Amino acid sequence: MSAVPLASDTARAIHAEHPAIDLHADTLMWSRWIGYDLHKAHEPPLPFAALGGHVDLPRMREGGMGAQFFGLVSLPLADRPRGMARTVHEQIDALERQMAHRPGALRLVRKAAEIEACRAEGAMGALLGIEGAHALEGSLDNVTTFARRGVRYIGLLHFSSNEAGYPAYGRGRRDGDGLTGWGFELVERCESEGVLVDLAHINKRGFLDACSIAKKPPIVSHTGVLGAFEHWRNIDDEQLRAVADRGGVVGVIFCPQFVGGDGLEPVVQHLKHIVDVVGEDAPALGSDWDGFIVPTRPLKDPRGLPLLTDALLEAGFSRAAVGKILRGNVMRVLDEA
Ligand SMILES: [Zn+2]
Repeated sequence: MSAVPLASDTARAIHAEHPAIDLHADTLMWSRWIGYDLHKAHEPPLPFAALGGHVDLPRMREGGMGAQFFGLVSLPLADRPRGMARTVHEQIDALERQMAHRPGALRLVRKAAEIEACRAEGAMGALLGIEGAHALEGSLDNVTTFARRGVRYIGLLHFSSNEAGYPAYGRGRRDGDGLTGWGFELVERCESEGVLVDLAHINKRGFLDACSIAKKPPIVSHTGVLGAFEHWRNIDDEQLRAVADRGGVVGVIFCPQFVGGDGLEPVVQHLKHIVDVVGEDAPALGSDWDGFIVPTRPLKDPRGLPLLTDALLEAGFSRAAVGKILRGNVMRVLDEA
């Protein structure tokens, strides 16, 4: 493995106290496709290259992580896609196979208390989130089905319009339209099942619609913020306030194109903007590792997280604020949902 720059003892101590939880990595997509092994340390070779192969248990441990939300991806390439729910089930199957392969190392968790139990027992927590409501194939009962399998958030949109609404970018984009009637029902169903509503990838109208009826904290699992860098993928201050007003969290993405440059500094700036606008109870980590992005170099895999912690301390974040960003804010939201 290539050398990783050393983080400070202070950063290591903060991670020991607050093992990090990341809100979005698409690793199980690779497990389903090519049998990517979460238990093994990887150094991504070509042609797999930088687009995937970022997350595995050895590097999560090295990076001071406690749990990872795995995004469950299904790409609707046709107008009437088929087999989207099955694709999601197969990614959960892949996780279950890997958990069975080394019992105790990786554990499917739903609640904050279960993540704490993982820490006590030396296990890594795996949480599940679906990326795009097209995977429900128009059935609200699929929310219940997936919740029973451990899914803790559902992203309403991905890169194409679906029964719930319209994407910020992608096929079927319609900026003037918000959530559909079914989309509103979906938000209610998620909340009644204890599933968090994820507003990454949805257009602004739909985003604000979902917040307007949310009774539980919504999340944005992986995003940048427009106040730090102008990009279609990022959300503005009105959206930040809408999420924070309802007690939600916003995970900052590690993709240089969206945050406005390579290195730790842009990621710090996005976290800082969130704190400046809505306070320190909202920011979180939303790497998008393994999601067809080339992550910013110092955060090319979980081993870089303590370096981000050092960069946050240098930028003036308090230890308490860093603890909330790494872990505390996500733990709170898991409890409240
Ligand atoms: Zn995404």
